[in-house]
This record gives sequence, C-alpha cells and structure tokens, in this order.
Amino acid sequence: MDLDVGAAGVSEFESPLYNEAVAQFDRVAELIDLDQNIHERLRSPQRSVVVSFPVRKEEDDRVDTVFGYRVQHLQTMGPTKGGIRYAPDVNLGEVAALAMLMTWKCAIVELPFGGAKGGVRIDPTVLSRSEKQRLTRRYTMEIINFIGPDQDIPAPDMGTDEQVMAWLMDTYSTHVGHTEPAVVTGKPPSLGGSIARREATGRGLMSLLPAVASHLGMPVTGSRVVMQGFGNVGKYAALGASEMGCNVIAVSDITGAVHNDSGFDVDDLTRFVTENGGVSGYPAADEMDPNELLTLDCEVLVPAAVGGVITGENAPHIRARAVLEGANGPTTAAADEVFRENGVFVVPDVVANAGGVTVSYFEWVQDLANYFWSEAEIVARLREIMNRTFSEVLDMAITNGTDLRTAALIKGVSRVADAKLARGVYP
Ligand code: NAD
Repeated sequence: MDLDVGAAGVSEFESPLYNEAVAQFDRVAELIDLDQNIHERLRSPQRSVVVSFPVRKEEDDRVDTVFGYRVQHLQTMGPTKGGIRYAPDVNLGEVAALAMLMTWKCAIVELPFGGAKGGVRIDPTVLSRSEKQRLTRRYTMEIINFIGPDQDIPAPDMGTDEQVMAWLMDTYSTHVGHTEPAVVTGKPPSLGGSIARREATGRGLMSLLPAVASHLGMPVTGSRVVMQGFGNVGKYAALGASEMGCNVIAVSDITGAVHNDSGFDVDDLTRFVTENGGVSGYPAADEMDPNELLTLDCEVLVPAAVGGVITGENAPHIRARAVLEGANGPTTAAADEVFRENGVFVVPDVVANAGGVTVSYFEWVQDLANYFWSEAEIVARLREIMNRTFSEVLDMAITNGTDLRTAALIKGVSRVADAKLARGVYP
C-alpha cells in the first residue's frame, strides 16, 4: 500500500510514542482492510497548535519562555476531547500520539467525541501555586480560539488537576463574557464539575477486575496488585482494589518505590503521600528499586504513570497474570508481542482507563443541560459502560482470535471509518 502522503505528515510528529501509535493503527488498518484514503487521513492529526509563551516566575522577577501544545486528531465525530498534561518532556509527537489514542478510546466507548490532547513542557512540581495559575491562564489564552464546548473540551491529565481546570474555565469564561462550565471537564463540583470525576479513571479501571478475574479463573479477594504511579489514577485504583479485598503489595511514584507483602493500608499511604509528596519513606513498607517493581510476582499489574514503560526488554520478566493499563500507552508493541506469547492478559488503555473520559462526557452533558445527576446515577452508568465495553471487546477478541487491544482498536477504527465514509469529503 502506498502511504507516501501519510508518511510525510507523520514525520512532523516523529517521536517514539507517535511511531508506536501509528504502527498500532497501521496494523489494525491492515487487519480490517481499511479504505486507503481513510487510512492515510487518520495517520495525521487534523489540527495541531504549537505555542511558546512567557511565564513570570517568583524568583528574581524572571520570565521563562515555555512551549505548549494542543492537538485535535479527528473532528468528524463531534467536538474533540482530551486531557492537558504538564510535564518536563511533553512534545508535539507525544501529544499527537495521545490525541490519536483518544480518538480510538472515544469511539470504542461510543462517546460523541474525536480525540485531542494538550500539554505544556514544564516541570509542575517546581512551580508555586501562583506560577501555575499564571501559566494556565496564559496557555488558555494562547489556545482560546481552538477550544470551546462545541469545539474542543480539555480535561486533567498528568500534572494537572481540578484547580488547573477551574483556572482554565475562568480564563475562558472571562474572555467570552459569560460563565461557560462546559468548556472543560474535571472541574471542582462547585463550578459544574461532575461528582465522581476525580475518582472515575482509577475506580472505573478497578470495576473491571471482577470480570477479568472471572475470565482468568482467579479470585479477586487476596489478589496481589502492583501499582506504578500513585497520582489521580493510581491512588483511586489502589483504593478500589483494596476495597475489593485485594492486597496492594507495591507502589511506586516519581520519588521511589515501596513494598509490603501483607498489603498496604491504602488510606494511610494516601495520607502519607499527601503530607510528604511521595511514597518514598513510607514507614509501613520496605523501599525497593523502582526498576524492579514491574517484574514483581503478582496477579495484577497496573501501570498508572507514564507511557512506554513496559518494553520488549522487561516484558519477558513480568510475572503478573493481568496488566490493567491505567496510563496511556504504557506497553510498547514489542512488549505486546511478548505478552501474547506468554499469555499475559492485557486490558488496554483504550478500555481500562476509559472511565475518565466517560465521566468527563457525563460532566459535559450535565453542564450543557444545567441538570446534575446524583453520585449513584453516575457510578452506576460508569460501571455499566465500562463493563459493557469490556465484555463486548472480550467477545470480539475471542471470536477473532486476537488480543484485547487489537479487538478494541478494530471496534474504534471501524466506527470512525464508518462515520468518515458517511460524511464524505468536502468539497
Ligand atoms: P498524576 O500526575 O496525578 O500522577 C502521576 C503519577 O505518576 C504520580 O504519582 C507521579 O509521581 C508518578 N510518576 C511520574 N513519572 C513516573 C515514573 N517515571 N515512574 C514512576 N512513577 C512516575 O497523573 P494521572 O492523572 O494519575 O495520570 C497517570 C496516567 O494515566 C497518565 O499516563 C495519564 O495520561 C493517564 N490517564 C489519566 C486519566 C485521568 O483521568 N487523570 C485518564 C486516562 C488516562
């Protein structure tokens, strides 16, 4: 197949994560014999905004120039949707890869969005609160013509939280002259944020464990869970696991890794992390080498930090029976190949962490309608969507003899392709 135009577009976004995302898409496109024009079109995002802007720092009245990005992969399905991350290594290729992943995720869960992602290349841990606020407001202004409730709706991701979303919403609202809660999701509930959005990704992920365990013929109670990352996703996934009677035996974050064979008291660990900024030094555990965490003997491994951590090199040593991907893109194609051979059951990011965008969708719907649902309604609808998606994808995987990632992507890519074919090309 001749994909010269697509390949030229792809080079703009050259990065390990983008190459992985495109290779994954190419593989699925071949499998379903995707229309060549659509294949080529979907390899490159529709719109990418790169900005550089000044941020006034506290110290010595210094002004730093930082880079920001917003990439909208697909505008066919409705507005675009995706998080904003603040991290020191954010780049255009990474953001574009994550935007593409969001397109598939929304299509798999059947939400009326295309994928987007944004980011600012900065270490958020060294920013004061007012520096973070100034940065957020200026970044919002830089991308303001490209976002909006009908256009593109950001949400939190690594390094951003409810407060950052509140500043974004306030900046946007001030600019357009009226309060516009639906421009962003993951806001505080006092501003129209949805109840249960904060917990949605981690809890949604763990709501799949009973179905995963039943498929693998293993008990949930007493299962040993290992967690890489103890931020928004990791914390609530760990809480969900311990509430179901699992033993969370090891946890890592940017500060280090800790291990306790009898299982952590997750509430106590959470308190420690809030007070001390990380898991390192937690007294009711032994410190361990973070590089060894992924290969610990356990039933369930949850990568919930950064992408590209499970590779062809460490995958052969991974002893978990199931990997539930909280992070986006944690497993490389080479590692997937190893898992297929070794029979490690992977619930891919596009399914496992879809709880976040699902409750974000609920939040957007509630904001547009100015009518808010109860926590019980939200949790019940979230569980229903997560479990329906999982069982549909599992059935497809069994029927087609593929892994879950392939089955899920076949569903997502086919849905997008159907929509693109139905809309046609303008003019
Ligand atoms: P967060 O910033 O709240 O937490 C990130 C965690 O990862 C922190 O504990 C941090 O210390 C840790 N970490 C960072 N680098 C690490 C490293 N090299 N090794 C070990 N730990 C490391 O971010 P989050 O919102 O929890 O997001 C985590 C992942 O989940 C990201 O890949 C994100 O894209 C994905 N995700 C998040 C959501 C959401 O709703 N927040 C939804 C879907 C997917």
